[in-house]
Amino acid sequence: MRSARDIAEHVNSGGSAVQVVEEALERIHADTSNAFREVFDQSALTSAAEIDHRIIAGESAGPLAGVPVAIKDNICTREGRTSCGSKMLEEYRSPFDATVVTRLQDAGAVVVGKVNCDEFAMGSSTETCHFGPVKNPADPSRVPGGSSGGSAAAVAAGLVPVALGSDTGGSIRQPAAFCGVTGFKPSYGQVSRWGLVAFASSLDQIGPFTTNTADAALVFGVLRGGDPNDGTCEPSPAKPCQIKPADLKGMRVGVPIQATTDGNAKSVSKMMAEVRDQMSKAGAELVEVDLSLLDQGISTYYVIATAEASSNLARFDGIRYGHRAHAPGAGPDELMALSRSEGFGAEVRRRIMLGTYVLSAGYYDAYYNRALKIRRMIRDEYLKAFATCDVLISPTTPSTAFELGGITDPVEMYLCDRYTVGANIAGIPGISIPFGEDEQSLPLGLQLLAAPFADEQLLNAAASIEALRDQAGIRGARNA
Ligand code: GLN
Repeated sequence: MRSARDIAEHVNSGGSAVQVVEEALERIHADTSNAFREVFDQSALTSAAEIDHRIIAGESAGPLAGVPVAIKDNICTREGRTSCGSKMLEEYRSPFDATVVTRLQDAGAVVVGKVNCDEFAMGSSTETCHFGPVKNPADPSRVPGGSSGGSAAAVAAGLVPVALGSDTGGSIRQPAAFCGVTGFKPSYGQVSRWGLVAFASSLDQIGPFTTNTADAALVFGVLRGGDPNDGTCEPSPAKPCQIKPADLKGMRVGVPIQATTDGNAKSVSKMMAEVRDQMSKAGAELVEVDLSLLDQGISTYYVIATAEASSNLARFDGIRYGHRAHAPGAGPDELMALSRSEGFGAEVRRRIMLGTYVLSAGYYDAYYNRALKIRRMIRDEYLKAFATCDVLISPTTPSTAFELGGITDPVEMYLCDRYTVGANIAGIPGISIPFGEDEQSLPLGLQLLAAPFADEQLLNAAASIEALRDQAGIRGARNA
């Protein structure tokens, strides 16, 4: 499959967007991974034809001209449904497009459909999706990761060169690692969340899945920039993101002591050793960093995220929004309780209960307030680390993709997020790039983190490591 950059160049120089989109639709209809929830055949072809007309008329069609894009099912689109992988919103149709969707379309991208995710983006495997689990294209007996599993699988299977996901605790980076593609979570406040169905508003951020860093930067340049509809979005104007691979010579690369523990799968430790070796040969200065609070990340995250989710999901009560139970004669309280029990799956109900508990009068200080204090300490620890290094590297996940149904204990599932939640807690940018594979040919992911709003530096560093990887003949993205 061609990269987004190649497609845009091809279309902008007279190649047919309709043909590009037709081919994508054909691949999507032949796919068996269950990545797609809904395909927008008609509107996609119409938009592609408009792009072709614009180019024939001598107008510019934008930096993503004719690039087929898939959108995670928790990002609002006027076309089709926005179900958040839930029975609760099975038939929900949004009256508006999310800011990110409008920006993609204004840049010439063609939205080809919605892709499956864990219910309300809660999960690490896409198995909590009401519309069935997604299969990992690298091995269909395995999960694609989550919660943006459909987005990752769609890119890894070569259906589309770009998909959008959302990342609250790792939901872009972890599935990118499991499927063998690139997944980028920008700094909190870089990309508008208007039209993203909120899970945990202080942690959520939208970002792209691609097959390479240059494409991630291209899409990021289109997405970023202030939005009057999102007060948490930094108000600077939108501007393209041009990456220049950073010079590895002299780059200070932080390696957290905590990232090289026995908790990692052997293949993951081997990858880390390889990365360090390659980087120091290329002249990078490896700095040991002590992230002593890394292991407090999971508990801090699961208190804050569930607290915010319990509030955000209160609107889905069968009256204002969402599935309504058939309960003739029931009063409003009973109707809400019934609708919520029927509409939400087990994991979402668990999180709402956890979140309600940590916010309740007697436990607020012991859990929620305490988690907020630890959040500040974790952020401070990252800021301190970035005084000694330009980027931090770690595995994206402690293991490669596990079998569908292989993890049933919720806490074990939560531990998949060990390396990813920190970026959301601290609001810093993070990217996962494919870096080789394990003995079963399953993709391995390398995570890079940078200081708040150092998104471009992060992408520049990722581009250099990607080049190093390619020179060494180490496997990169699937379908690149
Ligand atoms: N796996 C994490 C969770 O279940 C992260 C989810 C996400 O980033 N949306 O909460």
